[in-house]
Amino acid sequence: MNEQNIFIVRCGEVALKGMNKPYFEKMLVNRIKKLLKKFDNVETYRHEGLIFVRADKKHDSEKIIGEISKVFGVASISPALECESELNAIGAAACELAMKLIEEKGIKTFKVSAKRADKNFPVKSPEIARIIGAKVLVGCRVLKVDVHNPDAEIFVDLRRDVSYVFEQKISGFGGLPLGTNGKGMILMSGGIDSPVAAWMMAKRGMMIEAVHFHSYPYTSQRAQEKVEDLARIVAAYVGRYRMHVINLLPVQEAIVSNCPEDETTILVRRFMMRIAEKLAAANGCQMLITGENLGQVASQTAEALTVTDATVNMPVMRPLIALDKVDIIEKAKEIGTYETSIMPYEDCCTVFLPKHPVTKPKLEKILESESKLDVDALVDAAVSRQEIIDIKP
Ligand code: ATP
Ligand code: MG
Repeated sequence: MNEQNIFIVRCGEVALKGMNKPYFEKMLVNRIKKLLKKFDNVETYRHEGLIFVRADKKHDSEKIIGEISKVFGVASISPALECESELNAIGAAACELAMKLIEEKGIKTFKVSAKRADKNFPVKSPEIARIIGAKVLVGCRVLKVDVHNPDAEIFVDLRRDVSYVFEQKISGFGGLPLGTNGKGMILMSGGIDSPVAAWMMAKRGMMIEAVHFHSYPYTSQRAQEKVEDLARIVAAYVGRYRMHVINLLPVQEAIVSNCPEDETTILVRRFMMRIAEKLAAANGCQMLITGENLGQVASQTAEALTVTDATVNMPVMRPLIALDKVDIIEKAKEIGTYETSIMPYEDCCTVFLPKHPVTKPKLEKILESESKLDVDALVDAAVSRQEIIDIKP
């Protein structure tokens, strides 16, 4: 009987990184350690190409698994039993697991699959599976073998020093460990899209910092709190980060007083990009990230995105660009932001919304409209008014 709960953690793509593999694995182990810090007596380490987590039995396994599965780079997790690399010991562990599965899930059929990492072990994998299967049949008489459609598949991972027996492979999100791919500034609104966009870039290893624009007093304090709530949900995956909060109202008022009404939205968006780029550069971000999605609204047509992009030099990552809204919503539900995103609060984009926004803006015409504004002064003033919020999970 093990004194601790043991979890085998498999890395997905991290395993393919050749020479960089140790670096990626180390980053992954560090992330897991960080998320498991709230539990005492937990050990996380690498061994023979796998990551192991050992936790005191007093901790709820579901909670431990919940935390590990939030770590980007984790492909799957298996709670496992550890035993001596000897067939009787493996058989006993397999029986213990089978009994648990009968009790908890009412399984009636099973099959055993075996993998022999230790090629010096005198029995080959298919034979190991057959021997352990026979032991389970003797130990748990209510069970039958079904190799095609079993209620449970029991895996044996036979290694040189110790072996592991497990049933479940709980899927992680995959991706790459956080911190292995630079840092991006996410333009975070209170909508469905931007938190998903931040999450998707972070899943590829990118650290984030955020900027949120409001139009107080046209937008409420509660609307901003909603964005902070969303940011905190994202922080459960990416850890602590900063959010720059900017009052965009003076910019919007200058646009409304000086420029054609139908260009308001696109002009406001260009200012958002400029301000975001300035903040990004000052805070070590190489890129901007938005939740824009081709054709979703007037400001996200091919022409509008081109005009928006023309304001900045930094690359703009738009991870949702080609997704359908239903897929974005599904993702938002999966990561836990959806319920907060749909709460009905006003956004600065809906303040001064033109009746008929241009859908195919021309850059020359937009530049002409902007020539009536002191762009640099407006941007600098907005940045200087920033408020910084520390976002913690
Ligand atoms: P929805 O999910 O309703 O589409 P959205 O946040 O995507 O909400 P859009 O008007 O489509 O709203 O805005 C496109 C992108 O512009 C957002 O994904 C976000 O990156 C950025 N953005 C919009 N409003 C703000 C804001 N108030 N603060 C920061 N970024 C914003
Ligand atoms: Mg959107």
